[in-house]
Parts: sequence; structure tokens; C-alpha cells
Amino acid sequence: MAERLLIANGPIFTGGEDFDLLEGHGLLIGDGRVAKIAPLTEIRSENARLLDARGKLVMPGLVNAHMHFYSTLVRGLGKAAPARDFGEVLRNLWWRLDRKLTLEDTYHSALLMMLAAVRRGATTLIDHHASPGAITGSLDRIARAGTETGLRIGLAYEISDRDGPEAAAEGLAENAAAVRFCREHGGEHLRALVGLHASFTLSDETLDRAAALAAERGVGCHIHAAEAAGDQEDCRTRHGLRVVERLRRRGILGPKTIAAHAVHVDRAEVETLAASGTMVVHNPQSNLNNAVGIADIVAMKKAGVLVGLGTDAMTVDMLEELRVAIWAQHYGRGDPSQGFGEATGALFAGNPAIAERVWGLPLGRIREGGPADVVLVDYDPPTPLDKASVLGHLVFGASQSTVDTTIVAGRVLMENKRLKLDIDEERVAVRSRELAAALWERF
Ligand SMILES: [Zn+2]
Repeated sequence: MAERLLIANGPIFTGGEDFDLLEGHGLLIGDGRVAKIAPLTEIRSENARLLDARGKLVMPGLVNAHMHFYSTLVRGLGKAAPARDFGEVLRNLWWRLDRKLTLEDTYHSALLMMLAAVRRGATTLIDHHASPGAITGSLDRIARAGTETGLRIGLAYEISDRDGPEAAAEGLAENAAAVRFCREHGGEHLRALVGLHASFTLSDETLDRAAALAAERGVGCHIHAAEAAGDQEDCRTRHGLRVVERLRRRGILGPKTIAAHAVHVDRAEVETLAASGTMVVHNPQSNLNNAVGIADIVAMKKAGVLVGLGTDAMTVDMLEELRVAIWAQHYGRGDPSQGFGEATGALFAGNPAIAERVWGLPLGRIREGGPADVVLVDYDPPTPLDKASVLGHLVFGASQSTVDTTIVAGRVLMENKRLKLDIDEERVAVRSRELAAALWERF
């Protein structure tokens, strides 16, 4: 339950575009909100329990703007044939796997990843789910895991025509059901978008139906866009268009829509993403792992695109993803002076802006009156820590530290590195190994 808390004695990184680094301040939390941020001498802390942040850095709960919980049970699976390009990665691994997922697999995959997210200080995760063999009810299972862990979860089912028109229709209906459920029961924790796989597995008719649903319900879409060169080749061959232009014409783009990846976009497409207000989510570890290229987030930011950071399920650790985002820009541009500001901006300013558009709440920032999503990381800075140096400390120091405490909406989910949830982790681990073994057998 949300209690009154006073976080004191540690530096506070406030996050957001106009972040600050506050020393000697206390953070008073009540009713799920940040009630006050002020010098400790000015805070009356009656009835508040003290969380001592000595030796720790206080920061906002981190946002992961593109995630696939369903990939959890693939860890260690050695059966997939080697892939030589991104198409083979999908055909040899992910599309063979996701067709075999049951609703229980989906629930356990999500629960395991969410517990890991609590441990790494990720408090808001925007998921993109696929389980073509068990579509109906799948987002309900993810929502259930979200409610049990107390995190803020964005739901979406990846509609695709790759499994035929019935699966596409079922995917559309699952998104519609999730949007309705979140409106009625999501509170401040659950939101839904209309999920779509990618241009190369979607017909014009299916895109039109998804765009109509999103417009009717007032939500955005969540789609992979130009992740690999093959998405562009397919679009040019079958539609005579670039991917972003096709999505624009079909009404998919806009300020509520997330386009994941945008690795293979040209200058005109970047301008279209900017003009439409579409949110782009960069996933550097996944892009490097699949050898699809490195998105030019420097050019996108310069053009005015809202760029955020996701992990595409490579990790739940956003600071790890941030580090790779920086190295990838350095390497891709052959210039180690470029990309630091764009990458850190994607995580600490872009992701809060994306979460605010999806949730309608100022998430990912610590501000008076805002949601109390706060993380304490073990960190004793060996060099001066202030507003000018804090990003360097986060990338090179705090990213290597252990998260100690995770709070969402004023509720302590983990404290002193111990989960405070009504979940039997050992039982979850045992069951997931059983489910994974059975899934690998079906694979
Ligand atoms: Zn993805």
C-alpha cells in the first residue's frame, strides 16, 4: 500500500528535459504523489517513514519504451538454425517461437521480466506482444502480471497478416479489448495502444482497420518501422512506397503512435516522422545483435523527432541500453564526440515525454505533484557530482551499481534489494522452467 515516505540524505537526479541535481533536499511522498521536494530543513515529515538515501543516488523510475515480454522463455534455446539476415532471425526463431506460446507462457514471461524490471529500476514498460497461437486473452495475462507487480505497463498486440486473416482479426479484437479494459480498469497503471507487427507483414486493409480502431478509441499505434533493409525492399516492391510514407498514407502515424527502430529511414521519412509528431523508439542492442544497422538518432533529433529508448527485450536494464546507445552512435558515426547528448536525452527526456503521451501523467521525472515513481541506486560518487556531471555519473558509474529501492505510485516494490511483493519468486522460477522446457519441445 502507498504510505507516506520521506527520502533524504542522498542527491536527487530529477530527470526530464530540464533535469536538476539536488543536494541536501528531501523528497516527501504521499498518496502516490511527490508531495514536496525541498531543502530538508523545510520539510515537515510527520507520519512519514524515512528512507535513508545515504550512499545512494535518487532518480526517477526508468521508462522502457519498446519491450517484448514474450521473449523471456527463449533464453538459452539453442534449436534455432543460424540466421544470416533479419528475415531469417524472424523465420528461424521468433515466428517459430511465438506461434507456440500459450496464455500461461505469456503470463509467466511477463511476470519474470517485470520482476527483473523492478530489480533494475524500470517502472514503466511499453510492451509489444505476439502469440499467434493464443491471441485472445494474452493482453489480459500481461495486465494481470502488471497488476501483481505494481508496475506501469503499456499493452499492445502485434497484429499481422503472416498467420492469415483470422489471426489478424483476432489480433485487432485483442487490442480493442485491451483499450476498453484499460479505460475501465487501468487506473494510472495500465494503458493500451493498437499494436502492429511491421509494414512487410501487413496488408493495406489490416492497416486501415487498425488505424480506424486507434482513431475511434483515441489511442496511438505501436509498430516496428524500417527495422531492417528488408522492410523497405518489401514496401518498394509491393507498394511502390517507402515504409514511413506508406504508414502515413494509411493513417498510422501521429503524436500518439510509436514507431520502433527507424533504422532504415531516409531524409524525407525523418521529416515525415517529425511533421506527424510520431514517437520513434531506438533499440540499439537489438539492432546491433541483428546486424540491421544503427539508427541515426542525431539526425532525427536535429529534425525535431521525439526519440526515446527501448530494449526490444534484449534487457530490462535501461542504463545498460543507454550505454550501448552511446557506443553505437560513436561507432556508427566514426566520431566519439557525437551521440552522447542524443542518447542520454532519449532515456531521460524522450522516454518521459513518450510515457506522458501514453499515460497522460508526467512519468519518468521527479516533480512536485507528479507521480511518485522513484528509484534509489547504490552510488557513492568518487568525483564531484552536480548538474553538469550527473549524466556522466549515470552512464559510467550508477549504471554499474545495484538498484536498492524501487517505488511506483508511492508503493515500495523493492527495498534494501528485497522485493516487497506478494509473489513467490521461487515458485515462479520453477514453473517458468517447466513451461520453457515444454515450449522448447514444441518449438
Ligand atoms: Zn520489437
